[in-house]
Amino acid sequence: MISFIVLLGPPGAGKGTQAKLISDKLGVPHISTGDILREAVRNDSPLGRQAKAIMDRGELVPDQLLVDIIVERLSRADCANGFLLDGYPRNISQSQTLEKVCAEHAIWDKVRALEITVPDEEIVDRLKNRRSCPSCGAVYNVVSNPPKRAETCDSCSAKLQLRDDDREETVRQRLNVYHERTEPVVGYFAERDKHIVVKGEGSPEDIFAAIMEKLR
Ligand SMILES: [Zn+2]
Repeated sequence: MISFIVLLGPPGAGKGTQAKLISDKLGVPHISTGDILREAVRNDSPLGRQAKAIMDRGELVPDQLLVDIIVERLSRADCANGFLLDGYPRNISQSQTLEKVCAEHAIWDKVRALEITVPDEEIVDRLKNRRSCPSCGAVYNVVSNPPKRAETCDSCSAKLQLRDDDREETVRQRLNVYHERTEPVVGYFAERDKHIVVKGEGSPEDIFAAIMEKLR
């Protein structure tokens, strides 16, 4: 069973749901760069302080800081039997760094990139039906997972919002950025015979079953 996984997929592909299912099933940590950054900031670690200062200035966290954070995270004991990397690598240079770190830990042979693909039109359709709770962060879908009362959060009764991020023109923009950025990374893994593709269509259970089949 493949358990060293780099998860790739466009926004709205259901990556978060699958990441949780995979990491529970395989018993490997789900390593999301976004979560690590937020955790580092919360814990006020040296890296966290650096990251916070940069984000407070409204700037993007630079490559090198992200690399430091990932290298530190992958070196922890809970990654010895596998990991699920989410949000990294985002370019060729980060892919090379990942290869180097994994080679140092003698696990590069086992690493695979798992790409969940969904047609752009389908993503646009899904995200425009998504509603988020501004108060507790719960996420709904007016078609596939509607709240009990229209436009109202089940847990905290706040009025649900269509996030700016989920508006059609923003989604198309995000998809363009995603394709531009991810295709080279996909190529990097494909050239090394490390690319696995699963179609992100159907129920979450169906997609998960297809993923497990491919990881065998
Ligand atoms: Zn809520």
